[in-house]
Amino acid sequence: MNLEQLLKRYFGHDQFRTGQKEIITSIINGRDTLAMLPTGTGKSLCYQLGGYLLEGSVLVVSPLLSLMQDQVEQMKAMGEKRVVAINSFLSYTEKKAVLSNLDKYKFIYISPEMLSNPEVIPFIKRISISLFVVDEAHCISQWGHDFRPDYSSLGIVRSDLGNPVTLALTATASNEVRNDIQEILKLQSPDWWVFSVDRPNIGLIVEKVPSFQEKTNRLLQLVHDLQGPGIIYFSSRKIADETAMIIRQESNGRVAAYHGGLDQEQRILIQQQFLYGQLDIICATSAFGMGINKENVRYVIHFHMPPTLEAYLQEIGRAGRDGKESVAIYLSAPFDDQLPEQLIEGELPTEIQIDEFYSMIASGSHWKECELSLQLTEIQTRFLLHFKSRQPELDHMELAEDVKAHCQNRIRLKLLKLKELNAWMLSNDCRRAGILKYFEESKQHSVEKCCDNCGLDLHYYLKCDEKEEDSSSNEDWELILKNILLNETV
Ligand code: ADP
Repeated sequence: MNLEQLLKRYFGHDQFRTGQKEIITSIINGRDTLAMLPTGTGKSLCYQLGGYLLEGSVLVVSPLLSLMQDQVEQMKAMGEKRVVAINSFLSYTEKKAVLSNLDKYKFIYISPEMLSNPEVIPFIKRISISLFVVDEAHCISQWGHDFRPDYSSLGIVRSDLGNPVTLALTATASNEVRNDIQEILKLQSPDWWVFSVDRPNIGLIVEKVPSFQEKTNRLLQLVHDLQGPGIIYFSSRKIADETAMIIRQESNGRVAAYHGGLDQEQRILIQQQFLYGQLDIICATSAFGMGINKENVRYVIHFHMPPTLEAYLQEIGRAGRDGKESVAIYLSAPFDDQLPEQLIEGELPTEIQIDEFYSMIASGSHWKECELSLQLTEIQTRFLLHFKSRQPELDHMELAEDVKAHCQNRIRLKLLKLKELNAWMLSNDCRRAGILKYFEESKQHSVEKCCDNCGLDLHYYLKCDEKEEDSSSNEDWELILKNILLNETV
């Protein structure tokens, strides 16, 4: 059977999408592979079909619990029973049962935290891993927009597992981030399959509103007029919650807020309701969406400014996975860059927290105790522990100095990236060309519904009844103009 026949047999698709065949060919030929495909084009299929052609199990490292559950459900729905997710959803007994029977599974999804757990590794070492997949691999790079400290140990884990053939997948990684992925995973001359980040079916619109306060009014108008379903991104959980409530009250819309402050069950419920069409709008923070496979999202609106162009691209990439016309709208108000600036500065531990943390650890405190007493976030604690485990030879003061320098550097770089995004938002040039340039590509084809700076009008994306109302008002205008001209010539 050739690859196309296997595609039909296992997945029911008639042809490969751009890049899939090349990536599958690389991995079945035993090549380490770094692949960048735009969001929604079908990265999972590459390791799933590739996995069927290889003997042994496929180990997939995936950063989000919801994403993992989603993938496992989808594979089960396609009839694949030999699939499992090892993460904190499993009870102790379940985890023990899964780990003792690991060789029964063809596809094993695992969280990076679980993979760093020394109790888990021996079980994985006992089975034959044909392919090691790092999904959302940009999380590996500290320069990536979504750095996860646990991801940066994956190179060590990989060599501990005997350097299995590896596939690193991402949708948005600059050249710098791609180099980082290769280096951290210690990939030996991997095949690079890098495809354009462009999504021509997503129109790009930046709409200026006079003040931040005006944004909510404009947003209400947009969610009323635009063809859904849609996702609205916020940087604040509180504003996401409040706006969801306002939309519900004002338009009786089927809307929910989604953010890291909700518990796992609530998050999964909302995600599923959105996936199955019981919700039309999600007011979300960046916690929502990575890997969410809802095909018909028609718009993504940004209420707040994300921190980088990569993050922006990743988030708007959740629109139009079915290839149909969709739109990304950023509501831009003066001083929009202030909030992301604060978030960047607050994301990492302060110098005092760094000093205190390592000094407490040196005097025997447990990290959990340090986290509580220094009011660190979970991610800050993981960040600090990660540096400690990477440099066990340093004493606590040396370590603190090293981490402080690292933090300063990281903040400086992130602020630079924010500046680049801000310049893109304020620019009068083609927005698509601007994004492509950032990813070191150039715009090859003209796109019909490109961006506001190329004359794209929101009108294309209105609900049909709004369009009709709107087009009748256009006709009125035509009539009025005709009359004016007639009157003038008379
Ligand atoms: P990504 O991980 O790249 O964001 P997914 O792997 O979730 O995207 O796939 C997105 C959707 O595309 C899925 O519904 C999947 O079934 C579909 N898909 C993948 N490959 C093909 C193909 N060759 N033909 C048609 N649909 C495909």
